[in-house]
Amino acid sequence: MDRQQEFVLRTVEERDIRFIRLWFTDVLGVLKSVAVAPAELESAFSEGIGFDGSAIEGLTRVFEADMVAKPDPTTFQVLPWRGERHGTGRMFCDILTPDGEPSLADSRNVLKRTLAKASDRGFTFYTHPEVEFYLFNQLTKTDSKLEPVDQGGYFDHLARGSTHDFRRAAITMLESMGISVEFSHHEAGPGQNEIDLRYADALTTADNLMTFRTVVKEVALEQGVFASFMPKPLADQPGSGMHTHVSLFEDDRNAFHEPGAQFELSKTARQFIAGLMMHAGEITAVTNQYVNSYKRLWGGQEAPSYVSWGHNNRSALVRVPMYKPGKGNSARIEYRALDSAANPYLAFAVLLAAGLKGIEEGYDLLDHTEDDVWELTAAERRALGIAPLPRDLDEAIQLMERSELVAETLGEHVFDYFLRNKREEWEAYSAQVTPFEIKRFLQL
Ligand code: GLN
Ligand code: MG
Ligand code: MG
Ligand code: MG
Repeated sequence: MDRQQEFVLRTVEERDIRFIRLWFTDVLGVLKSVAVAPAELESAFSEGIGFDGSAIEGLTRVFEADMVAKPDPTTFQVLPWRGERHGTGRMFCDILTPDGEPSLADSRNVLKRTLAKASDRGFTFYTHPEVEFYLFNQLTKTDSKLEPVDQGGYFDHLARGSTHDFRRAAITMLESMGISVEFSHHEAGPGQNEIDLRYADALTTADNLMTFRTVVKEVALEQGVFASFMPKPLADQPGSGMHTHVSLFEDDRNAFHEPGAQFELSKTARQFIAGLMMHAGEITAVTNQYVNSYKRLWGGQEAPSYVSWGHNNRSALVRVPMYKPGKGNSARIEYRALDSAANPYLAFAVLLAAGLKGIEEGYDLLDHTEDDVWELTAAERRALGIAPLPRDLDEAIQLMERSELVAETLGEHVFDYFLRNKREEWEAYSAQVTPFEIKRFLQL
């Protein structure tokens, strides 16, 4: 038993924890949980807890259904919404096969493998996501009309606004679980909010995002409202993006920073951006995984639709934020395609893989774009070498299918499962006869 494991056992005893939830994530990014009694913890640490993986999205093929969840003691936290007495703790788990090998179906392991590749080259990968989501009045039926909780807009300060209370409660809860929040504000849509997590290594941020979604949903329920991370819930309002700021560190030096260079971006940063841009199309099925994701990407309202990069250009896919003089370690780039419904483990893995590829192959970076790319004509965009992101999930799947980079990063099992699942989603979606069609075509 190591020191971290002992610390967990001691805390469980001292704080009268009665249940420990073992958390892991399926291939689509849905949180799964199994609760164990404190008496089971020692063996959970040494051997893991066996469970039947066959009913979990993408986890196993039916003929190898037995899986083992092994808790990571460094992720232990007490769940604040479960109360102090007879409390509940949680840990994230790695998923193993019955013979103790990392499961090829575990998205946390996909990210770990990609981080290990970066680490072989001396890099640590940091991410910091800006998470947008909507708050709606509680639904009585899923087909009832969505009512945002307020009519606020970007950065609005609403007098006695319910969303201040909401953000305060959510942030307090996150911080009590060791998750630091940097900014929070009302977003542009009615009832839309944004909370930005402080940067941390990508595995921690991905775990934190899984906790974040749970906390936001819990706090919403407590306050009698309902939180949604759906990419585009309202057709005529902005979607919910998860712009992600990324940087590479070599020891404690930010490898993206070079004083005196254009935008103070090092060659490493430029190659990383070039990698993101070269592979943007192939990775979009992962960063934007639902049919609904493409309604956001192509619905205007500051979501990116074209592959370009720019300094402080909000129409760009990759944005280089304003540089704070003297703060070299804050040098970073922002990838704006991700939406709030992405599986963070897989999405961070493909971002990192694309960026590393740019470094490995020494890709050249095209010139940055200062124009608003939506305002350019198609011919102007072509002349500037600015390609569109996939229009819909179908196109994204077709690009992903041919991608060696994504296949290699996700591994064969996750790659195949993901594509199968997404093709099925596209077919089910396409088979519908929508109200739009009835309205337009019934009277032909
Ligand atoms: N909601 C926008 C998106 O979907 C982002 C708005 C902003 O933060 N500038 O990406
Ligand atoms: Mg923001
Ligand atoms: Mg925002
Ligand atoms: Mg942003």
